[in-house]
Amino acid sequence: MLFRQILETETSTYSYLLGCERTHRAVLIDPVASEIDDYVGLLQALNLKLIYTMETHVHADHITASGLLREKLGGKSVVHRDAGAMCADLLVTDGVILQVGDLEFEVRHTPGHTSGCVSYVMSDRVFTGDALLINGSGRTDFQQGDAGQLYDSIIGKLFSLPPDTLVYPGHDYQGNTVSTIKQEKAKNARLGSGQSRDEFIAIMQDLKLAYPRFIDKALPANQSCGLAVE
Ligand code: FE
Repeated sequence: MLFRQILETETSTYSYLLGCERTHRAVLIDPVASEIDDYVGLLQALNLKLIYTMETHVHADHITASGLLREKLGGKSVVHRDAGAMCADLLVTDGVILQVGDLEFEVRHTPGHTSGCVSYVMSDRVFTGDALLINGSGRTDFQQGDAGQLYDSIIGKLFSLPPDTLVYPGHDYQGNTVSTIKQEKAKNARLGSGQSRDEFIAIMQDLKLAYPRFIDKALPANQSCGLAVE
């Protein structure tokens, strides 16, 4: 398997490239529009054909490259059915398996940051988007966010994975690149010391986060796969 973790520095967003070495088929998870030339160059350099761009959710902080990649390379965009992006080619639900060459991705619906959030489980790793972050979690105060639902998603759908599963998040603001389920279960500041559902909800309600900088631009754009909206 070919694997790259790509950081977009302005919004500390991680995107991921995964490619099958046998079939040269590839996917991008959560690509950012401003970085499209890098993705195209990387796919070319590694001799890969883009099959899917897979979104973990409709993002509020950056614009997706999925629409542009579809126009340029023909890659189909994938989001959860409840994400509110009807522009996508595949609207998936919990339990769907996406097969790309020898790579197998399992969709796990992990709502709470948004109602249409998913995580993608692939072999020894999981791409958690903004559901589970390293030593944190996605915020739950906009985009149909729901702290109780996020707690249930993380405990039920992510902490139930094998302990050595690698955790690759959608963002990291401290420069961390990867964690494990074991590490997050033991050390995550919001729900890694046995916090109850109510304690987690109280923590999330008390965060007092600033209004997201790009939400008014990014949300409508991402509902049309990152392509211009009038
Ligand atoms: Fe997000």
